[in-house]
Amino acid sequence: MAVKRPTSYFLYHLHSDYSLLDSCTDFHEYVDLVKKAGGTAIASTEHGLPRGWISKKLYCDKVGLKFVHGVEIYLTEHLEPKVRDNYHTVLLAKNEAGIRELNKLVSISSDKSHFYYTNRISFEEFLRISDNIIKTSACLASPLNKLSEDNPWYERLLHHYDYLEVQPHNHPEQIEFNKKLARLSKEHGIPLVAGTDTHSSSRYKAECRGILLKAKRKTYGDEDAFDLSYKTVDELLSMFSAQGALSEEEYFSAVQNTNEIVAACEDFTLDNSIKYPILYGSQE
Ligand SMILES: [Zn+2]
Ligand SMILES: [Zn+2]
Repeated sequence: MAVKRPTSYFLYHLHSDYSLLDSCTDFHEYVDLVKKAGGTAIASTEHGLPRGWISKKLYCDKVGLKFVHGVEIYLTEHLEPKVRDNYHTVLLAKNEAGIRELNKLVSISSDKSHFYYTNRISFEEFLRISDNIIKTSACLASPLNKLSEDNPWYERLLHHYDYLEVQPHNHPEQIEFNKKLARLSKEHGIPLVAGTDTHSSSRYKAECRGILLKAKRKTYGDEDAFDLSYKTVDELLSMFSAQGALSEEEYFSAVQNTNEIVAACEDFTLDNSIKYPILYGSQE
């Protein structure tokens, strides 16, 4: 059966100015854009740490959007000896147990035993993440792009991802990676999902981000090929079409699968009750 052209998508791979020195966009701007486009949900996946997630959730509650708690976490092959591999992976909490699990992982990742240039978790810890968290393979810094397919970790990691993330950037490495993910998806029965890796609310904010990156003395080579500004669903579909790495059926279903993710994530309420510290082991 032919896949229908999607009429909406869930913006789940998203960075705001809480991804330090990597975005100039306040999270509220994205919420307002999604709301204006008739969207019903948004996620947050800052680099390394889910900074500001409570205030983001409160703002989403105020305007009536479902908020999905997430992070783009760093992975390392092993904790000792320390190597600066730091692969990317997107995690999204499906429910309250998932939120607690995600926060615990982030906390462990910042421990001295784990930290090396940035906070990370090991491949083993990633493989132990439960079904309460949706895992997608993220950007070009994914282990599925960086490791060779005959690396002993490759297949174990691959099978722990719920979705293989294709991105619409018109860049040779991204094109090659998308084609590989489409092949792996067929071979292993793991669905594709369309990640935008959005870092800016507009072209102007993307220019501002360019200045920030220069200040960090960071250059990503062909940065111009990576249009990481906010896209409507039609713009996103045209980007995939212009990129030409995937068949129409493949990218239609990858975009549609973002909606499947949000349907699988429960809305939650923040616990605002006053909490006192427990002293001397007393619960009274
Ligand atoms: Zn990334
Ligand atoms: Zn990202």
